[in-house]
Amino acid sequence: ETLYVELGERSYPIHIGPGLLRRLPLLLAECDIAPDHPLFIVTDEHVNQRYGSDVQQFLKDAGYKVGKSVVPPGDTSKSLHVLEHLVTDALHFGLDRNGVVLALGGGMIGDLAGFLSASYMRGVRFVQLPTTLLAHDSSVGGKVAVNHPLAKNVIGAFHQPVGVIYDTTTLATLPKRELTSGFAEVIKHGLIRDVTLLELLEEKRDQLVGLESPYIDRAILKGCRIKAEVVSRDEKEHGLRAVLNYGHTIGHAVEALADFGRLTHGESIAIGMVGEAMIGERLGTVKEDIVTPTKELLRAYGLPTTLPPYLAETDILARMYHDKKNRSGKLVMVLPTGWGQVDIFPNIPDDTVLDVLRQLK
Ligand code: NAD
Ligand code: ZN
Repeated sequence: ETLYVELGERSYPIHIGPGLLRRLPLLLAECDIAPDHPLFIVTDEHVNQRYGSDVQQFLKDAGYKVGKSVVPPGDTSKSLHVLEHLVTDALHFGLDRNGVVLALGGGMIGDLAGFLSASYMRGVRFVQLPTTLLAHDSSVGGKVAVNHPLAKNVIGAFHQPVGVIYDTTTLATLPKRELTSGFAEVIKHGLIRDVTLLELLEEKRDQLVGLESPYIDRAILKGCRIKAEVVSRDEKEHGLRAVLNYGHTIGHAVEALADFGRLTHGESIAIGMVGEAMIGERLGTVKEDIVTPTKELLRAYGLPTTLPPYLAETDILARMYHDKKNRSGKLVMVLPTGWGQVDIFPNIPDDTVLDVLRQLK
């Protein structure tokens, strides 16, 4: 299945399906990347072990000149230090302005390799080859970055890929917890904009968790489509793009406060989506009961729906204010207005948030 992302005058394809890495040369050719363009693969050790040499071989067989750099797995590789190593490798390989960076991996690799391609020789083209479920979110939208010791993603750029080639067979080797966390973002995309995605998630749970084609491909496509639609209407995050943060105001605070490794990003935003649905219900932004079906859906995918008891409500609220997205001095939140529908609301009262957080335990 193929989806086209329209951004201003430009447009790029997102191909989603099983076995696409085998068809990589053909799909690259469709993006105007012929064998006279050097290709530089950036990947991490886990992904390289499973898919690195295959991808390299498919491309070499098709006549491409291919280089590769492998970084340690984990977010610590999203750093200026590792970026400099990649530049060294790219220079040794002979990557020139005609070259193309291939980001083979999850969101970490997409962000790192994407920022390499945004900055290397003032910008070269790049293609996303996502291998995690979360990457259905991170591979669309063109935000690329590395972290600084003081803050995440503060050294970055907006740099769109020329294409996304999503081989869904690669998801089979993803650790279970990574897969579960990825489903939290898929569910989020349904909750903010797409009842048909919510229906698919509810009705085909077993097939989706089992990564059966074409269900998983369809869920990813719907998720990517929502992200792409929102991003194309608000590429540089002036307003609308904030709806993508549903569940993230509480979620980010919970993720930051939970002991390291105790809650993943997906697990944290699952709890956040329940909390924000409850706040919506309290403030009357939504009339129907969406808290119950939200919880049911998240639980069906093995995601948590309550706060760990060791987190204090006041600490979570303080952390929410700390989030730079709330510039006005008052909390701004994305709240549900229906099943599969959200909007942005300013001036959220602290006591409502504290009340809900207390109830969320
Ligand atoms: P990740 O890329 O670190 O991958 C998670 C783990 O799974 C890693 O250990 C990796 O080696 C392993 N892995 C990846 N694919 C595998 C496969 N097919 N089989 C076996 N193991 C595999 O993490 P992620 O969750 O994909 O992404 C998180 C990153 O994405 C963060 O850095 C976050 O900041 C970023 N992000 C960016 C955006 C954006 O818009 N740019 C959006 C959301 C998240
Ligand atoms: Zn997220």
